Amino acid sequence: MISEQLIYDAFRRFLVKKSRPRTEAIHVSEVVGCLRKAYYNRKYGDEQLNHLAPTKRVILSLGLSTHLILEEILEELGYKTESIYTLNLGGLKLVGTPDAVNPQRNSILEIKTVNKLQEHPLEHHILQLNTYQGILKIIYDSRPPLGHIIYIHKRDGQIKIHTHTFDEQLFHKIIERARIYHQYLKQDQEPPAEQSWLCHYCEWKWRCKP
Ligand code: SF4
Repeated sequence: MISEQLIYDAFRRFLVKKSRPRTEAIHVSEVVGCLRKAYYNRKYGDEQLNHLAPTKRVILSLGLSTHLILEEILEELGYKTESIYTLNLGGLKLVGTPDAVNPQRNSILEIKTVNKLQEHPLEHHILQLNTYQGILKIIYDSRPPLGHIIYIHKRDGQIKIHTHTFDEQLFHKIIERARIYHQYLKQDQEPPAEQSWLCHYCEWKWRCKP
């Protein structure tokens, strides 16, 4: 018998199917946002994603399905999608999974679905893209690719693209955060809260009490 619960659960299963397997390597997305949240996700997050509110499962799934639609077309345009790039930082591995990379055009894309198109890209999106640019620069021993963040407005369908040129200082800031986060993980110690407007959307705020 069909029910709302069953549909919420279908979205949860979709996300579980598409989730990255858990590894010891640190993902870039963990260190461009609140380290405490990343720590909680590792320590208390359920692999079946039952810790996510049912509505959040739907929102995340809709964002992910937009990626899947675009990936097919981007591959036809010569982009490699969802490839995994790993940077060894002596004792820790930092992993990046840019949405799309085109080595011939020296271009990298991140796709974001949003409720509001902003004049400027969000800080954590820039940090994520910039870190991917830095990782690719090192792996390919070449100039960093030019970055683009593609914002897609969920309600009215408008699209806005921001271009980002690699910033070496920002890259080193994130590398340093990855080292700090690695230490917290090794010592199984909770990182300090890093409060921002994103706390409003955080599934761990009941535990964190920022
Ligand atoms: S509520 Fe805010 S400070 Fe606390 S874990 Fe979540 S994002 Fe971090």
